[in-house]
Amino acid sequence: MNTLLLGEKDAALAAEIIKRGGLVAMPTETVYGLGASALNERAAARIFEVKGRPADNPLIIHVASAGELEKWCVNIPPSAYLLAGAFWPGPLTLLLERNAIIPDIVTAGLKTVAVRCPDHRLALELIRLAGVPVAAPSANTSGKPSPTAARHVLQDLCGKIEAVLDGGGCRVGLESTIIDLTCSPPRILRPGGVTREQLAAVLGEVEVDAGLLGSGEKPRAPGMKYRHYAPQADVIIVRGDDAARIFDYINSRPDEGAAVLCFDGEERYVKSKICLAYGSEREPSTLAERLFACLRELDREDIKTIYARCPSEDEGGVGFAVANRLKKAAGGRVICL
Ligand code: AMP
Ligand code: MG
Repeated sequence: MNTLLLGEKDAALAAEIIKRGGLVAMPTETVYGLGASALNERAAARIFEVKGRPADNPLIIHVASAGELEKWCVNIPPSAYLLAGAFWPGPLTLLLERNAIIPDIVTAGLKTVAVRCPDHRLALELIRLAGVPVAAPSANTSGKPSPTAARHVLQDLCGKIEAVLDGGGCRVGLESTIIDLTCSPPRILRPGGVTREQLAAVLGEVEVDAGLLGSGEKPRAPGMKYRHYAPQADVIIVRGDDAARIFDYINSRPDEGAAVLCFDGEERYVKSKICLAYGSEREPSTLAERLFACLRELDREDIKTIYARCPSEDEGGVGFAVANRLKKAAGGRVICL
């Protein structure tokens, strides 16, 4: 199949493809999504096929406004509208009871559906013109780092999907925060660009799923149990209070096949290993924006091990989400010095 590369002015064509049951990768503020009509079982099934995604990993549906919630969900609590008012369009996904009109394949047979309104002009235009909710997981091969640029989508899916709508780089760079509103108090299942602190300011009490607080090995949200976001190399997180000790440790490892993912300004401590800085430790949003692009850049045959610096989770904020993704990429391998 020839994959069309579409741009700024092509939202109408992209919407036509979605309406006819095709797949279009679309830009959002979080990562690129692999979109299909959420009301078309065949099209949704193809999302799983082309990504190699396990069938028990449900999809998020994307809507153009909170006004659509009642079409696709039932028993909607007031908290959903409070959160949509505060954070939509934006990187927050609400988990709600589903309307039976949403096919089983989209929700992996669950009675709940995940809904989000993305903060990207082209995505919103596409959803509006298509006139259907757009089911869209990240537009990568399952398990690989999520795509934050159109070229990342093409690396994984060129020839397998009808089109990629290029809307530039993704501002947030990590997948959305997911909050479960079917339990009380509401519970964060996946951390992202909307932080726990921001959610608590609107909702009062918010829980963080127990699986997110430990090593990252036992998460509860479907789909979060797989090794994820990972290049082919082994990723090893190296943590500690003392940067000098961390780099002594990294520098003492064999150079061959090793790379380092560090914070801005730390490149000078790295001796004779391939090294990429992914952002400022003091501004975790910069780490979020570049993390996946850097992991892709290090996804090379000759790189067998990546030693990674990871922001502290104790500070909360977006650093918590960055640490969550890195721990997934590392499959839980963390060295504490
Ligand atoms: P992705 O779009 O690739 O980041 O994947 C979407 C993620 O949303 C899944 O891996 C799940 O963790 C989560 N999700 C979607 N729908 C549900 C649901 N009904 N219940 C729980 N988690 C969900
Ligand atoms: Mg994904």
